[in-house]
Amino acid sequence: MNIDQLARKGIMELMAYVPGRAIEEVEKEYGVKRWIKLASNENLLGPSLKVVKAIREELRNIHFYPEAPCSILRTALARRFSLGEGNVVISNGADNLIFMVANAFVDEGDEVVMANPTFPVYTNTTQIMGGIPVKVPLKDFTHDLPEMLNRVNPKTKLVYVCNPNNPTGTIVTQKALEDFMSKLPERVIVILDEAYVDFVNDPNFPNGLEYVKKGKQIIVLRTFSKVYGLAGLRIGYALGREDLIKGLNQVREPFPVHRLAQVAAEAALKDKGYEKRSVRMIRDGKKYLYRELERLRLSYVPSHANFVLIDFGRDINEVFEGLLREGIIIRPGHMWNYPTSGRVTVGTIGDHRKFIKALKKILR
Ligand SMILES: *Cc1c(COP(=O)(O)O)cnc(C)c1O
Repeated sequence: MNIDQLARKGIMELMAYVPGRAIEEVEKEYGVKRWIKLASNENLLGPSLKVVKAIREELRNIHFYPEAPCSILRTALARRFSLGEGNVVISNGADNLIFMVANAFVDEGDEVVMANPTFPVYTNTTQIMGGIPVKVPLKDFTHDLPEMLNRVNPKTKLVYVCNPNNPTGTIVTQKALEDFMSKLPERVIVILDEAYVDFVNDPNFPNGLEYVKKGKQIIVLRTFSKVYGLAGLRIGYALGREDLIKGLNQVREPFPVHRLAQVAAEAALKDKGYEKRSVRMIRDGKKYLYRELERLRLSYVPSHANFVLIDFGRDINEVFEGLLREGIIIRPGHMWNYPTSGRVTVGTIGDHRKFIKALKKILR
């Protein structure tokens, strides 16, 4: 028997998730020694020293299994958001929580409404379960919630709203979300992906947790990968109505979050200074980038997150390859059908100076 017959229906036709290119991978190919990675929206401040210290202290315990439910962290998160512990589930990254959502809620033939382009993990997790992704094009780079509502039918199980949206950095406003929520049939589950929530500074941004507190059928996803700088440790969480969180727990692995990630996240939550510096770096970094891009007469989508979608006005492969030769990795936009655009992570001013310098050389 060959694998096409052995694998479950549809599995071999899935499109694999294509991550940003890793430094280890491009190093050999381009022979550049010092890389600047602006491809995966990581926190370019580097790790918090308090987190590093907590991990060092925990190293002596790694022969023990981790504490399965992550109780200390779950209590800390419940307190922070004024929720009950039953409203919180922690796992190894928001990515994994998206898998859990599909495992718990998506049956064969169920429709899952989402924007296009948005975070690609929604698509393949849906398809693995035999669900059908229903993709609604963005309007002005933002979720078109009225059209998404139009696409809801009796087969719709879930709706994903990525706020701010990856890869565009745009937000849906409080008013737009409220209108959407009030018209959505109650049986549909809303998954509000707030991976970048900490970078948003806009009075029109909705508070997704209000819907959780009101008992709406909603799950809010968060991660320690972005503002807390723990992408390499893999830890994220979901906040939702107790019965929905119970559903997620039904499909949770026994020990999804290892010891080092648990203590790191506990320390990260307490390190307010690091969080502040991250937010400031992103704010200042965007200001600098916008100014330089305007000088170069390049258009971009103003972003509420820690990345900017830039239109380079020419084939993105050319720009992408040119930047690689200069030791800079960005995310090319062809996978989102933006053939002249790329997504660039916001980092330190030093990172951006080098990026702009390399860009000028390429565009010349
Ligand atoms: C980065 C990102 C995630 C994944 O976060 P992890 O916790 O690192 O898995 C989830 N959703 C969106 C929109 C993201 O950009």
